[in-house]
Amino acid sequence: MPAPHTAPKTVTLIPGDGIGPECIESARRIIDATGVGITWEVHHAGERIFKQGIPSGVPTDTIESIRRTRCVFKGPLGTPVGYGEKSANVTLRKLFETFANIRPVRELPGVRTPYSGRGIDLVVVRENVEDLYAGIEHMQTPGVAQCLKLISRKGCEKIVRLAFELARSEGRKSVACATKSNIMKLTEGMLKRTFEEIAQEYPDIQSWHIIVDNCAHQLVKKPEQFDVIVTTNMNGDILSDLTSALIGGLGFAPSANLGNEVAIFEAVHGSAPKYAGKNVINPTAVIGSGIMMLRHLGEFEAAARIENALLVTLEEGKVKTGDVVGYDSGKACTTTAFTDEIIKNLGRSPQTVTPRTYKPLRIPRISPDPVVVRPTSRRVVGADIFLESGLLPDKLGPTLEALAEGTPLKLKMISNRGTQVYPDKGTLIDCVDHYRCRFVLRDESGDLKDADLMALLGRVAAQHRWVHVEKLPEFDGQPGFTKAQGED
Ligand code: NAP
Repeated sequence: MPAPHTAPKTVTLIPGDGIGPECIESARRIIDATGVGITWEVHHAGERIFKQGIPSGVPTDTIESIRRTRCVFKGPLGTPVGYGEKSANVTLRKLFETFANIRPVRELPGVRTPYSGRGIDLVVVRENVEDLYAGIEHMQTPGVAQCLKLISRKGCEKIVRLAFELARSEGRKSVACATKSNIMKLTEGMLKRTFEEIAQEYPDIQSWHIIVDNCAHQLVKKPEQFDVIVTTNMNGDILSDLTSALIGGLGFAPSANLGNEVAIFEAVHGSAPKYAGKNVINPTAVIGSGIMMLRHLGEFEAAARIENALLVTLEEGKVKTGDVVGYDSGKACTTTAFTDEIIKNLGRSPQTVTPRTYKPLRIPRISPDPVVVRPTSRRVVGADIFLESGLLPDKLGPTLEALAEGTPLKLKMISNRGTQVYPDKGTLIDCVDHYRCRFVLRDESGDLKDADLMALLGRVAAQHRWVHVEKLPEFDGQPGFTKAQGED
């Protein structure tokens, strides 16, 4: 169970790796200069922890601090080659179920891009803990790898509700849902279906679905048409780096990882090791993340003061970091000088841009029950048995048909990487040694018993190397599996 919250203004501060400590120090000085009175608990994660021999990169004292404070302000963490298998960043996000990654981008004064003048102002709301980032990977054969794309109804509901709540809290007009549901009907389709259902509860916000590849195209062509984009983890990872580039690059892109218990604020960028310790990098992304954190803590006035001072600094352009004017141009300021200028500008308001007004964000809380979908009827209509085999389909198929003889199951088809290869339809498939063999019940109204499946698996195992099995479920009369390409 989560530990009780100690004080709303206590924050776990993780300086991070590479340029992390410089960015964090800049943002911390600015936040402290507002007089907001945050107590910082400094703890570590990432490279130095990997090097201490802690494979997760996140030590117990850091976890305990986060359980107390429920709020983290962090610099980027590097994943040095040879230390630790998993990213400490992803570990932190997942350990505390920060299910939403909020990545806003807005055209900034004084930062020229090919899009200047078009008024880009959008937020990518990326699901943060599911999808391919569940990180469940297996070698199926020595030459075929698999990564499971896990998407839950509960996860979709949380991220979709958060996107609509965010739109309301920021006075935004529309939410677009970007998925690849035309291809992945069950996984990406789950987000689309959930979105369309929940959108009806938010009639004040315009809602629309867009296929993710067209979303990338539209973002480059006409980004100003977007307000909020909600999407799955992998799509969001890629789209949000794209949107960062639209407003000047990673130096300007802040983010918040939000969950029901814990929030983690960090830049989108990484530790950029080549600039570490040089006092040259742009701290804006981390400062922006600090502004998001202050709003999360209810410190709207301090957040607005910093945002205004940052906008004034960019607008006046008296100091510019190397990513904007070129590191060797002779015109670039230091990170410290940029920070000092923002502190000097606290209390001033920008002339050319009007900052948004924000209301508190209501983070949706879904039932703690792990089961959120209860069908009224269910049965199993067959099973896919996956095999490693060097046989070609016309040799493999008859052996499996013979093995299923006299059992309640019959071979329906065999596919290779998702496309039917047996029975042969005269197609030209370059097979690999990984086959999905679909067996279905001879009695079409039956419910497959585990004992019958085990018996068939035993027969198959006597002749072939099976690698895994998936049941073919039906919930409320609807198939819980998709057909192979070319399967009738
Ligand atoms: P990166 O650190 O984001 O740096 C890529 C490039 O972006 C830099 O070389 C620089 O571009 C520019 N850049 C990034 N931050 C900047 C800033 N504050 N000011 C100005 N320019 C900035 O990406 P990476 O080199 O791929 O990753 C380095 C390490 O960071 C890896 O170990 C990676 O795992 C980790 N990482 C951590 C996080 C996180 O903690 N959330 C996120 C991403 C990556 P130019 O070269 O054009 O000047």
